[in-house]
Amino acid sequence: MSSVLILADFIGAKVTKTTAELATAASRMGEVTAVVLAPSGLGASYASELTHGSITHVLVVESDSFITYGVSAAADVLAQIIATKNPKALLIASHAFGKEVAARVAVKCNSGIITDAVDVSDDATATQVVFGGSTTVHSKVSHGTPIITLRPNTVEANTNTGTPTVENAVFEISESSKKAIVTSSEPPVQGGRPELTEANIIVSGGRGTNGDFGAVEAFADSLGAAVGASRAATDAGWYPHSHQVGQTGKTVSPQLYVACGISGAIQHRAGMQTSKAIVVINKDPEAPLFELADFGVIGDLFAVLPKATEGVNARKS
Ligand SMILES: Cc1cc2nc3c(=O)[nH]c(=O)nc-3n(C[C@H](O)[C@H](O)[C@H](O)COP(=O)(O)OP(=O)(O)OC[C@H]3O[C@@H](n4cnc5c(N)ncnc54)[C@H](O)[C@@H]3O)c2cc1C
Repeated sequence: MSSVLILADFIGAKVTKTTAELATAASRMGEVTAVVLAPSGLGASYASELTHGSITHVLVVESDSFITYGVSAAADVLAQIIATKNPKALLIASHAFGKEVAARVAVKCNSGIITDAVDVSDDATATQVVFGGSTTVHSKVSHGTPIITLRPNTVEANTNTGTPTVENAVFEISESSKKAIVTSSEPPVQGGRPELTEANIIVSGGRGTNGDFGAVEAFADSLGAAVGASRAATDAGWYPHSHQVGQTGKTVSPQLYVACGISGAIQHRAGMQTSKAIVVINKDPEAPLFELADFGVIGDLFAVLPKATEGVNARKS
């Protein structure tokens, strides 16, 4: 029986919780093989991170080409694995790296691709939420191996643990995948906060912060949350573009999204509409984002957030 492949998702040498979500979704379709693409000499330690119970098998490929040639080397190897293993599907995390790898694999394998899925069923039907969250689409790849990218935080990972079998494999990277070289890369500055697309809670600030993210950050820290921002805030240089949520930023689906001084433009909604619970803090009662809110506070964020932070911190002590 052919298995379902997932590309194990790592930040540095640490596996992300998205890997468990990919494994959980993939296990609905069959046995799960997690592919680990590791720098030379690190395969065993990467593989030891994969203790999720839905993973039955780990396929480790070690090569420094993954550092030198980045996405093209990853796609090259995955396409070769698909050619030899003929899996039922390949699931990859839906972030910038994952989507680029998935697109390249789909081209190489002449397969259909579905990106930004929020769920995948046992027959590889993917669910997507499109048009700023107003429409739910179910779709299936009709040609080749289904290549599906799954948004982090959208599938609840089961908590089983296990000990998968580990296999090492060697693949040559083709010359055509060596046409661009990664000259340097730096890990993102985490600053102690969780990664935006992985966070269970996000507190975001918009133009209403007037450039002062202090209250937003303090509230985020009280909750152990990541900090997001609207494009108005990132374009103004108030917060890094890497924290932008929305159509031209990151797509997030946390358990809780707190929007502070953000009006609710369609382009912002597109990136956060699938959040499980949405709290809106805005001094304008007509702000469109209140339409999406599970809980709304009409008020000045500089008055509301310090009180909320105080309340959360008091409950912790
Ligand atoms: C092609 C394209 C792509 C785009 N992509 C994105 C994207 O990815 N992400 C994104 O966010 N935007 C995106 N935009 C921009 C988007 O259209 C909006 O301009 C932007 O989201 C507005 O940001 P904002 O809500 O912070 O600002 P505003 O719309 O100016 O809203 C500020 C809000 O803050 C409130 N406020 C002011 N002061 C306070 C206070 N003290 N306390 C509480 N509330 C207060 C106001 O009442 C207002 O509702 C895109 C636009 C285009 C054309």
